[in-house]
Amino acid sequence: MIIGSHVSFKKDTQLLGSVREALSYGASTFMFYTGAPQNTIRHDLDTLKTKEAYELLKENNIDINNIIVHAPYIINMASDNPFAYEFLNQEVKRVERLGIKYLVLHPGNALKLSIEEAISNVINNLNKLDKSSVTICIETMAGKGSEIGTNFEQIKKIIDGVSINIGVCLDTCHINDAGYDLSNFDEVLKSFDEIIGLKYLKCIHINDSKNLMGAKKDRHENIGYGTIGFDNLINILYNEKIKDVPKILETPYIKDSKTSYPPYKFEIEMIKNKTFNENLYNDVINYYNDF
Ligand code: FE
Ligand code: FE
Ligand code: ZN
Repeated sequence: MIIGSHVSFKKDTQLLGSVREALSYGASTFMFYTGAPQNTIRHDLDTLKTKEAYELLKENNIDINNIIVHAPYIINMASDNPFAYEFLNQEVKRVERLGIKYLVLHPGNALKLSIEEAISNVINNLNKLDKSSVTICIETMAGKGSEIGTNFEQIKKIIDGVSINIGVCLDTCHINDAGYDLSNFDEVLKSFDEIIGLKYLKCIHINDSKNLMGAKKDRHENIGYGTIGFDNLINILYNEKIKDVPKILETPYIKDSKTSYPPYKFEIEMIKNKTFNENLYNDVINYYNDF
């Protein structure tokens, strides 16, 4: 299984720091933002750190082709504001320089536009991007506010309209909140295949959800602690048809009174053992406090 989590990408340690963090979780892949997700400030890439990161990846048999970058979520490609396109174009170049293949993108918010107009803006913006080796993976969204990309049909429209390298990132929390029933994942995957085509599925975000199916909320929960549940998530994680697709946890950090800690090492263990850990909270806190 190609499993990992969201990790940080810091100014000083860059990709090397991200690889080290992923290894500390026992992961075989990871995802990161090249800077803060909520702003567009980006530091120059350090080629030496990239080179060291590649060596560490090789030593640990991690395939660079399974590593994912997430585009900042403040850019709204569904608007016709040129800023969104310009930033994404720069981001694609950064991803390409890192030698990474997949860039996950939230398709955006319609705001006052109709869904059709919003989708057409996304298509126009994507088609303006400079040619690159990077595949943009449109993420399935929960439907919070005026988000678009909340069903497979809308994503199919975007794919049909663009002439760039395109893929899809399926987020389990988002599709649950959008109304897909993950207790019947075979049906969901069948529908994905019929409407979009399984070959477009390049990344899966594995999250439990704090809200009920169809709630249109988008609040992630730790694995097995939400409404999707451990067994349904294990069923997705071990599905043979998607066994080569990288799977990324974006579950919330665990907080005590002082600070918060990443749950990923323990969630990855749960997944590998197929056994729910009802002491996740304490295990995480104790582990990082003993450090
Ligand atoms: Fe996302
Ligand atoms: Fe996601
Ligand atoms: Zn989300």
